[in-house]
Amino acid sequence: MGLFDSHAHYDDPRFAGDLDQVVEHISSQSEICPCGVEYVVNIGCDVPTSRLCLELAEKYPLFYAAVGIHPQDAATFNEESIPALKEMLRHPKAVAIGEIGLDYKYENSPRDLQKAVFRRLMDLARETGYPVCIHDRDAHGDVFDIIREFPDVKGVMHSFSGSPEMARQYVKMGWFISFSGTVTFKNAAVVPEAAKVVPLDRLLVETDAPYLAPVPYRGKRNKSSFAYATAARLAELHGLTTDEMVEITRQNALNFFQM
Ligand SMILES: [Zn+2]
Repeated sequence: MGLFDSHAHYDDPRFAGDLDQVVEHISSQSEICPCGVEYVVNIGCDVPTSRLCLELAEKYPLFYAAVGIHPQDAATFNEESIPALKEMLRHPKAVAIGEIGLDYKYENSPRDLQKAVFRRLMDLARETGYPVCIHDRDAHGDVFDIIREFPDVKGVMHSFSGSPEMARQYVKMGWFISFSGTVTFKNAAVVPEAAKVVPLDRLLVETDAPYLAPVPYRGKRNKSSFAYATAARLAELHGLTTDEMVEITRQNALNFFQM
């Protein structure tokens, strides 16, 4: 019974040189992650990387895929995007639409365009019934408002960075909250406060690899076995053992992705 990493990017060029070895390492039991990693969902950021995530899922048994368009890549959206994503969703290892949302920190794409693309992809989720993985960077209010326009769509807030109050609101709507290495960072006091208020049956754990490695690996290229440290922090906040948290988040992710 291994760990479920609900959000990673193994299609990233930083893994291109040694992905076979990384997958071999994370799927084995190790000092870093005694239970080993059992499942990983790789998340697409545009049409080509979504396709790449599906190819990786075909190659490696523990990998699954989400397909979508990241707000920073909203400018790549065109009229062929929706049919392309829809076709990819027919793949047996496609489990979600993501990552989608809004990013007001970098604004590589204008806000109005980000919102329009976000709505189109939420609409795709409503039509196909797939859950969504949401990227929300410094856009909490607008993300929440758009999500509320789609009450039938269920999702997860990835690498949650909002307030405990915001976490409560998503939980009330039936959503899941996923925590990355940021919950272990000493300078991010609000993230653990939010993690504490999320009920155990709504918690997910993720890496966002190669980004956001948890303490004590901060700054390194992240990988799914490091998420054991993130699970340990969540366990501490909820008064459980790490292995209990690994099992709870694994079961939650299996439910969420309908696997
Ligand atoms: Zn991501």
